[in-house]
Amino acid sequence: MTAQARTAATEMLRLDGVTVSFGMPGTHPALDGVDLDVAAHEIVCVLGPSGSGKSTLLRVVAGLQHADAGAVLLEGRDQVGVPTHRRGVGLMFQDHQLFPQRDVAGNVAFGLRMRGSSRGEQQRTVTELLDLVGLPGAAGRAVASLSGGEQQRVALARALAPRPRLLMLDEPLGQLDRGLRERLVVELRRLFRELGTTVLAVTHDQGEAFALADRVVVMRDGRIAQSGSPLEVWQRPASAFVARFLGFDNVVEASVQGESAATPWGKVPVPDGTPDGACRLLVRPAGVRLTSAADGLPCTVVARTFRGTHVALLLQPASGPQVEAACPLHEAPETGDRVGISFAAEDVVVLGDAEE
Ligand code: ADP
Ligand code: MG
Repeated sequence: MTAQARTAATEMLRLDGVTVSFGMPGTHPALDGVDLDVAAHEIVCVLGPSGSGKSTLLRVVAGLQHADAGAVLLEGRDQVGVPTHRRGVGLMFQDHQLFPQRDVAGNVAFGLRMRGSSRGEQQRTVTELLDLVGLPGAAGRAVASLSGGEQQRVALARALAPRPRLLMLDEPLGQLDRGLRERLVVELRRLFRELGTTVLAVTHDQGEAFALADRVVVMRDGRIAQSGSPLEVWQRPASAFVARFLGFDNVVEASVQGESAATPWGKVPVPDGTPDGACRLLVRPAGVRLTSAADGLPCTVVARTFRGTHVALLLQPASGPQVEAACPLHEAPETGDRVGISFAAEDVVVLGDAEE
């Protein structure tokens, strides 16, 4: 097998420099030269704030949006001129819009009916998929009698029924309440694994992305800011933007010399091998250690939030920005207390940019 054929066999989707510009004066393109690969059976989750281009990305792949530049390839084939219904992709939107006048089976079988599948095949697929999404026996139920979570499962079964080679989900769990979302995301991951489905999902919810994905792609203003496994992105945010988007606020300007850096918080140890010079540092809250006020950098506790597994503290040093610390429940000081802090090198991340 040639290298090219091997690539084609394992690669489901490739975006090559895709640009979409809605032509609004003074605005940047919705997608700005996006390169993205999705391997067969991979679950990729695009994460980004509202307006970063996530929905546009899915629409381009589905053929619902024209690209001004670049190419979309599915299994190695350029999709230019290929209409949506011939791309073999499934798209599930946030407002899943089931057909209210049809029962559950009628909704799930929709794509198969469009394709002219036999009644027997439709029935078999409906039964199998309702079992898979945890709604056995629901075929004859009216859509209006279903809860939000059940409707979401039906929408998912409907998207899966035609066996799309690529399933795309746009904020799939956005309208559900938190508990249900957290449960469904685990079930979804198991389901996609079992079926071997290739998935490209987009969401603004980091919890959802990290729980669902094999790979997380963070977007900002139509560009990819970082791509990596959930662990990589969580442990090593590539930029101050990604760090802040993930909820890490301990970002400071620093000047590295040897094993430590001068920062507004005083000396902070840096990981081995960090080059000397100016950079930005992130200190994860877990790496902010409480000491006595005499030993560390003196701070006042300005806020204290119970988080279940730990207490999140907001600390104000005499100078410099506030510091967030994560502290075990039984050790947590009270608001107004004076404490000292020191920093642990293993939770210090050197950020790779000078943006913002
Ligand atoms: P997201 O899904 O990440 O919230 P979108 O892809 O919907 O972002 O939008 C990206 C950018 O493109 C936004 O600035 C949005 O206002 C703009 N945009 C999206 N669709 C259109 C459209 N049909 N016409 C004009 N601008 C659009
Ligand atoms: Mg969107």
